[in-house]
Amino acid sequence: MARYSKKKIAQLAEQALCERYPEAQCALVYDQPYQLMIAGRLSAQCTDARVNLVTPELFGRYPDLKSLADARITDVEEIIRPCGLYHTKAESIVNMCRILYYDLDGVIPDSIDELIKLPGIGRKTANLIMGDIHKKPAVVCDTHCIRISNRLGLISTKDPAAAESELRKILPPEKSSDFCHRIVYFGREVCTARKPDCEHCIIRSYLLKAYPDHICKL
Ligand code: SF4
Repeated sequence: MARYSKKKIAQLAEQALCERYPEAQCALVYDQPYQLMIAGRLSAQCTDARVNLVTPELFGRYPDLKSLADARITDVEEIIRPCGLYHTKAESIVNMCRILYYDLDGVIPDSIDELIKLPGIGRKTANLIMGDIHKKPAVVCDTHCIRISNRLGLISTKDPAAAESELRKILPPEKSSDFCHRIVYFGREVCTARKPDCEHCIIRSYLLKAYPDHICKL
């Protein structure tokens, strides 16, 4: 029996995902870096699809950072209401924009430690910013990444911070951000929460070449 290596499994999964999804795209739609921070904040306990339905109106009504920094929280609440938790999300979004515009001159911090000091910014959004905006190693642990990484045996935790820490030890830093983007699409289309389509799984076919007895943990 071939000896399992988490790094090898991650490498094969990454290659398979690259083949299936040549374009590694963030599932959240944005034009400006601060807009990704807002979309990331809105995505807490909400689907990316719903966020993408709401942000065009939000960014249309408030077309730059200053207008959001000066926005009335109650007005923002009305627009983002479909994303849920709209009181706290609106408050943190406006407060974050105030800090970004008035205190930081619009410069987005480039470390996770600095980013998570901003209102409403957790590790997931901070990693999105590090990977997509600053092009630095990032591991965005969303629900798809955590579920599939557990199934593949890369990690054995559902805690996002612990999952991020484990995956950082396994994924090549220069590929980790794109890996996380691709796994979101894979999680929606193939390895879904309720009914993974193992029969048509490209990761499985890659893994079986190296580990003929590999079985995911469901
Ligand atoms: S074999 Fe099944 S459980 Fe494993 S990654 Fe593929 S779809 Fe998911």
